[in-house]
Amino acid sequence: MTQIPVYYSDRLGSFDFGPEHPFRGSRFKKFIKLLDKAEILHKCNLISPIQAIDDDLLLAHNLDYLNLVAKLRETGGWLTMDTPVTAGSNDAQRLVSGSGLQACKLLLDGNEKIAHTFGGLHHAGADYGEGFCHYNDVAIAAKSLTERRGLERVMIVDTDAHQGNGTMDIFYHDPQVLFISIHQDPHTLYPGKGFVWETGSDEGEGFTVNIPMPPFSGNKQYARAINEIINPIAREFKPQFCIRNGGSDPFYADELTMLGLDYDGLYMVSNMVREIAMETSGNLLDMMLSGYGDLVIYGWLAQFCGVNNLDVNYKSFSPPPPHRHSSSSENTLDRATESMLTALKRELGQYWTCF
Ligand SMILES: [Zn+2]
Repeated sequence: MTQIPVYYSDRLGSFDFGPEHPFRGSRFKKFIKLLDKAEILHKCNLISPIQAIDDDLLLAHNLDYLNLVAKLRETGGWLTMDTPVTAGSNDAQRLVSGSGLQACKLLLDGNEKIAHTFGGLHHAGADYGEGFCHYNDVAIAAKSLTERRGLERVMIVDTDAHQGNGTMDIFYHDPQVLFISIHQDPHTLYPGKGFVWETGSDEGEGFTVNIPMPPFSGNKQYARAINEIINPIAREFKPQFCIRNGGSDPFYADELTMLGLDYDGLYMVSNMVREIAMETSGNLLDMMLSGYGDLVIYGWLAQFCGVNNLDVNYKSFSPPPPHRHSSSSENTLDRATESMLTALKRELGQYWTCF
């Protein structure tokens, strides 16, 4: 068996916004230690990332914005209240962006089918940064495939709890990149975007798909949404390359969100995306970055096992799961999901024959 490529360096630890901020850089090293404890690390090939250069960043961002970020890096400052630009966090985001490019090249040119980066900076747009993100590594990777390698159909599946507004904006007019985001209902969570009627525009009409899940949605509702929306649309689109923007924040105990996946749910979602990718493009670049609280790395472990189909008892390496607080019954969630899916299929039916 070939080793699983994982783009990692201790330098990622400088992706840290300080003790008062929910995003801390200690998560990366802790996760590598957890992979070791779970006896997975020896199956991985840790590859050192190389920083993206300005030419790479220009794939997704405009020059004025890059100049602004460069200036803030020197002087110190904030893109938004929750998104400081420090030298350390900025260098680390260049590393994250560079690793996405390296992974794309590896999957296109090598024998590997799956690669992992610690990425998913999906809140940065062409001329803005927010939500802890300076550069959009997801968009940079996808653009490298269409603009540098001539691919015509790239699919991004964003399963982070927050909608990927930056990625959506960058590809809103682009029919070559199918962007599918499954996230917590934007009425109830930042960035307040990703409604069913946001489906792309101009030539890109129909190539943006938003699946807003009711708060507290758990494994059952997610399985249904993936089976009824992502699966058929991926088969109709026939991507040449698949990118998954994952992360632990759809976990029910996440401190910033209100979704309902447990560890098995995080495994399931990742395993379903794996299956779709393997049966369509035959490759998958998997990115993980998000999650807030002490349990982030355990959610990552479940996802890593799901993406690679590893037969590992991932829960046995996690602390006992906390008590679940949910204000919605399964019946209420089923009805809310049904009504969202009906509305979404009505929108998508204008563009896709599978609906
Ligand atoms: Zn998130």
